[in-house]
Amino acid sequence: MTKCLIIGSGIVGLITAYELKKSGCDVTIIDKQKPGQASMSAAGILFPLEPWENKKYMQDLCIAGHNEYNKFFKNFTSLEKEKIGYEKKSILLFGEKLDLARKWYKERKDVKSKYTNEMLNTLEKSIKQKYEKFLQIPDISIINPRKFSFFLKNLLLKDGVKFSNEEIDKLDKFLKKKNSNLYDFIIVSAGTWSNSILDKKNIKMKPIKGQLLHIKTNKKLINNILIYKNYYIVQREDNEIVVGATLEDVGFDTDLTESGKNFLEESLSDLLLERVEISNLEQTFGFRPYADKNEPYVSLDPNNKKIIYNFGHYRYGILTAIPSAQIVKRLVS
Ligand SMILES: Cc1cc2nc3c(=O)[nH]c(=O)nc-3n(C[C@H](O)[C@H](O)[C@H](O)COP(=O)(O)OP(=O)(O)OC[C@H]3O[C@@H](n4cnc5c(N)ncnc54)[C@H](O)[C@@H]3O)c2cc1C
Repeated sequence: MTKCLIIGSGIVGLITAYELKKSGCDVTIIDKQKPGQASMSAAGILFPLEPWENKKYMQDLCIAGHNEYNKFFKNFTSLEKEKIGYEKKSILLFGEKLDLARKWYKERKDVKSKYTNEMLNTLEKSIKQKYEKFLQIPDISIINPRKFSFFLKNLLLKDGVKFSNEEIDKLDKFLKKKNSNLYDFIIVSAGTWSNSILDKKNIKMKPIKGQLLHIKTNKKLINNILIYKNYYIVQREDNEIVVGATLEDVGFDTDLTESGKNFLEESLSDLLLERVEISNLEQTFGFRPYADKNEPYVSLDPNNKKIIYNFGHYRYGILTAIPSAQIVKRLVS
């Protein structure tokens, strides 16, 4: 039986474990919960927000992710879907990026979209009247990433995947230890911390911090995923409104900032007719794993065929986790 060690239990690591376990491998996951784990604070939209900004490789991974999740969730019971906060919505994209979006979707024949120049508020009653003309991308899955991580972890534990609360400081040092010989493959999926473990000069990684607001309400205000300017607003099935996210190149700064909160609150009032009561608010953050040229590393280490990279998925690591894990599975077999 092929023995695999996965470093990192974010959604990329968990889905990789799921795929490897399914193909008959013996899987162990190591994680030392770092503050700012991206998977815990993501919005959970399983579609790219601004696909035209990505290189073709990333675009294709995103679309593959969209299709793979549709297959993946088909086998879920309604109770399981409820447990992970799964819903299907439309993306409604409008504002200054609309022309770019229209062009991208027109060329991309494998994604459904519909351009409308009706008033947006015929579909979304809570939106200000000035917003007309929008692009609708139907059939988008959304999950609650915290609930999804918890669900996956339990599923893997039941399936015999071992979890260990350890830190791998440097992979080179670990490879000199006797117990590293227990594994046929070591998969590095430690998000934005991946290259501090590998220490490779040719790999360039940095965290891009994202702050989000989670607002508890008891009123249904928004039905779809609204994308406007550089942010999105979505309301989950439990009525929590999620507004996100900031894009901050500030290293591993873990502070939740007043300016981040103000930006997100203003974004919300920019769109909505009604003032949302924001007394019950949670502000969170995560470090998106940005890889040089915004292309994830999903490949064998060129100098050691025992090491596999699976990191650098930046804004779309949840969406692209399944196709990335399938690549890892092919490298292992
Ligand atoms: C605000 C925000 C919103 C987002 N929204 C979306 C979205 O809607 N859809 C989407 O697809 N993506 C979204 N993303 C991006 C997505 O969250 C990330 O791309 C994805 O979560 C990366 O997953 P990961 O498993 O690679 O990394 P992480 O989730 O960061 O996990 C890495 C893990 O490695 C562990 N680790 C690190 N170093 C070590 C070490 N030395 N030893 C042991 N363990 C270690 C950490 O503790 C951590 O658990 C969002 C990100 C942010 C910040």
